Amino acid sequence: MSDCIFCKIIAGDIPSSKVYEDERLFVFKDINPKASVHLLVIPKSHIESMDDLNEQHQTLISHMMLKLPELARSQGLENGFRTIINTGPGGGQEVGHLHIHILGGKGLPGFN
Ligand code: 5GP
Ligand code: ZN
Repeated sequence: MSDCIFCKIIAGDIPSSKVYEDERLFVFKDINPKASVHLLVIPKSHIESMDDLNEQHQTLISHMMLKLPELARSQGLENGFRTIINTGPGGGQEVGHLHIHILGGKGLPGFN
């Protein structure tokens, strides 16, 4: 997706604070953190949102989910963390490339 900012971040065309990368995932710090730790976990393949997932994505999605605790711990979140996935305009999704927010530490926001 040539006009997707997260695809450009994966490609290195837009700079980011990278935390982790493997063959399927890219993880970086949110530019506008809502807590002292705020990461975005994204698939390297362009998938718009959870609405676009199907059975072919099972391995990718389980890989993303299973990585979350390790990523949180790597940022010093030993006591737990919050994950958020916004889907579509109704879910408040602003960037059209699937992403899981990992939040924790000081300033962790509530749900409202
Ligand atoms: P959404 O509202 O789509 O779930 O979350 C999008 C997130 O992406 C927001 O928290 C926003 O701060 C973050 N974001 C948007 N553009 C950039 C960018 O260019 N770089 C980084 N690191 N984060 C971004
Ligand atoms: Zn993309």
